[in-house]
Amino acid sequence: MKKIKFIVLGAGPSGLAVAHALINAGHTLHDIIIIEQASIAGGLCRSEMVDGSPIDIGGGHFLDVKRKEVLDFLFRFMPRDEWDLYDRVSKIRIRGMEIDHPLEANLWQFPSEVQADYLESIAQAGCVRREKLPETFAEWIKWKLGERIAQEYMLPYNRKIWSIDPAQLGTYWLYKLPNVSFRETLLSCLEGKPMGALPAHGTFLYPKKFGYGEVWRRMGEALGDSLVTNCPVEHIDLATRTVNGRWQAQTIISTIPWTSWGDYCKLPKDILTAITSLKNAPIDVDFHAETLNSPAHWIYEPDESITYHRLLLRSNFAPGARGYWTEANATRSLQTDGVRFHNEFAYPINTLDKPQVVQKILVWGENNGIIGLGRWGQWEHMNSDVAVAAAMQLANKLSNKVEG
Ligand SMILES: Cc1cc2nc3c(=O)[nH]c(=O)nc-3n(C[C@H](O)[C@H](O)[C@H](O)COP(=O)(O)OP(=O)(O)OC[C@H]3O[C@@H](n4cnc5c(N)ncnc54)[C@H](O)[C@@H]3O)c2cc1C
Repeated sequence: MKKIKFIVLGAGPSGLAVAHALINAGHTLHDIIIIEQASIAGGLCRSEMVDGSPIDIGGGHFLDVKRKEVLDFLFRFMPRDEWDLYDRVSKIRIRGMEIDHPLEANLWQFPSEVQADYLESIAQAGCVRREKLPETFAEWIKWKLGERIAQEYMLPYNRKIWSIDPAQLGTYWLYKLPNVSFRETLLSCLEGKPMGALPAHGTFLYPKKFGYGEVWRRMGEALGDSLVTNCPVEHIDLATRTVNGRWQAQTIISTIPWTSWGDYCKLPKDILTAITSLKNAPIDVDFHAETLNSPAHWIYEPDESITYHRLLLRSNFAPGARGYWTEANATRSLQTDGVRFHNEFAYPINTLDKPQVVQKILVWGENNGIIGLGRWGQWEHMNSDVAVAAAMQLANKLSNKVEG
């Protein structure tokens, strides 16, 4: 039995970042153990080489450039000159065309008759008529974008990606979506150019070689023997904070899904009930060898008769690559003999009661020396740059360092 300060469960971006940030804050490798079930670090951000070029096996991953402190942190492992910078080109397949995302800022790309149809529908939307903000995602879509965009794009697309009725999703997370006003939509049609706030990853970085997973692989490597791979969490003794009977910690930092915790230890009944209500969506990532003729980095596919919801045209962001990959909610995907990567935990689902449920679990955890961090520890749709920022913040807090 080894006694240490921190056991980190999971070596995805959150676990890797918190371990390195703790070291930056003055702890040493001897103070930390990271346990990872997979054979390499990186979690959803891992990449593999297929047909001579990378595939991001958890789906397409791009590094947002907004957070300088995160970029500086990551460039220590993969210097800036190993990345290419791109201006995002993302399209939506609709009415036999490929229209730039977000649709409501790019209706001007349709013939004018079609623009008029959409504008008429948005003009009747609840937000334009100053109706009350709805409580479910399904209602919000119609309230914000009107019936036509809701029925042709947003509702089918969201049914595909989550495989859950959007009426069961909340609205507390929608600040993450592009916010284009009706006025901006009108002006964009008049002036024939996009208007309104850009979506996330307006400008992004992607590695010149080996895919997005490379930076995380190197971060794992830099942890030496403190990273224990091929080591699934199997048992946790809550009273002593002992994991797998091998390591005992002052603090456990959990970046693994809470929904598995019931298998590792005996949880209080109310916490087990809370955990059981958390939902996640799985995805399959499938490789296709032909190269598509489109300038897009990725394309959204709302047609419900097609299983996948997004295509990633790696030939447009991985130098020298051929082919593309698709992402489908695994409950929808068909069997294949081709190259497929399955991810059981891809998307945390924003169910109506999730904020209260997560809060309850996190408070219980903190009272027991267990901190939830990252996509699964906080059950939140955070991108990897946000996950790193949260990990840096936590490491500072745990090290009593005041942030600069
Ligand atoms: C389709 C898709 C597209 C995305 N696109 C982007 C993007 O473009 N840009 C971006 O920045 N972010 C993107 N993200 C988000 C990004 O994947 C997450 O922010 C990031 O992976 C979060 O890291 P994490 O460490 O919190 O979770 P994860 O990456 O899920 O890591 C959790 C780790 O815990 C391990 N684990 C689980 N259970 C156990 C166990 N019992 N024992 C031991 N280990 C265990 C897992 O193997 C994994 O390594 C995307 C996500 C998806 C699904």
